[in-house]
Amino acid sequence: MTDHNTMTDEAFRAEARSFIETHYPPDKRHIIGRARWSEIREWYFTLSRHGWIAPAWPREHGGMGLSPGKLLVWIEEQERHGAARVPDHGINMVGPTLLQIGTPEQVAHYLPRILSGEHLWARGYSEPGAGSDLASLRTTGDVDGSELVINGQKTWSTMAHESTHMYMLVRTDRSAPKHRGISFVLLPLDTPGITVRPIRDIVGEANFCDVFFDNVRVPLANVVGPLHRGWSVAKTQLGFERLMHGSPKTPENLLLRLSELAGRAGLADDPLFCDRFAQLSGTSKTWVRCTPGSRRSYAAASRCRPMFRC
Ligand SMILES: Cc1cc2nc3c(=O)[nH]c(=O)nc-3n(C[C@H](O)[C@H](O)[C@H](O)COP(=O)(O)OP(=O)(O)OC[C@H]3O[C@@H](n4cnc5c(N)ncnc54)[C@H](O)[C@@H]3O)c2cc1C
Repeated sequence: MTDHNTMTDEAFRAEARSFIETHYPPDKRHIIGRARWSEIREWYFTLSRHGWIAPAWPREHGGMGLSPGKLLVWIEEQERHGAARVPDHGINMVGPTLLQIGTPEQVAHYLPRILSGEHLWARGYSEPGAGSDLASLRTTGDVDGSELVINGQKTWSTMAHESTHMYMLVRTDRSAPKHRGISFVLLPLDTPGITVRPIRDIVGEANFCDVFFDNVRVPLANVVGPLHRGWSVAKTQLGFERLMHGSPKTPENLLLRLSELAGRAGLADDPLFCDRFAQLSGTSKTWVRCTPGSRRSYAAASRCRPMFRC
């Protein structure tokens, strides 16, 4: 397979753009909100078939081995096109964490199943009463022979109802200082004793879940890193998440939809609309980018264009 790092950024951008324009389902562009698995799985499988699903993973593990610069180009091109985010906790969190800390058996078992889309991952960190102060978590994992027995509740687990697996933190040593007695565990969400309950939000969507654990038995082999040292594993995992923050895609998509709507409604000349639109985009000066794509995106509000200084 091509080593894309040998290409110039421009050549790689052209290839990425062409790949997305050829393969991304046209009716799934600029989805507002979070794409459901049923909407986005074909794109996941396409990325997987063509070897583009894990751009940052090493090539020997089925990734593209992209440099950080090339990875940003790939993300930008997806966002420019309005491609929806695929379920990516496996790709962006679990895979890299296992490559750094997992056993060879864990790497060999989980990574291929993440690549193929067979395993979709949710995170089980937060609990009622353990959010910002995550280390106060109370879900327990008691060692019983070669197994952990898990009891407790997780909350705000993003898309757990559409996931097959969870990576989670449990308290395995109640006598240790609170950051020390925690372990990082992987488990299938169809393990007996697990109940996943979607949380319906104020607009009627369910993107998050409560997950209940009632004497859930998991092999000790599913613990990542040493027992009781899960806090360090979680910090490693959270380091991989930083890439996902600060994307301009969501507000850009909303502004795009608004500008298109305004164009159709003949509001592009309306001073009140232009003023409000400029205020909205002006407050986000740092994320309105002058890529060729976004210029076209705002064409419908072209009379307002001078206000977009990027
Ligand atoms: C989009 C989204 C997706 C999420 N997905 C997941 C997921 O998949 N899995 C998961 O486990 N969790 C998930 N979470 C939960 C998230 O990690 C928690 O919301 C976060 O840890 C904050 O916890 P909390 O909501 O209980 O807020 P709290 O801890 O109750 O905090 C509420 C407010 O009080 C402030 N505050 C808290 N403590 C102090 C203090 N000591 N001093 C001063 N101010 C304080 C906080 O800054 C905040 O403003 C998600 C959250 C969001 C928003």
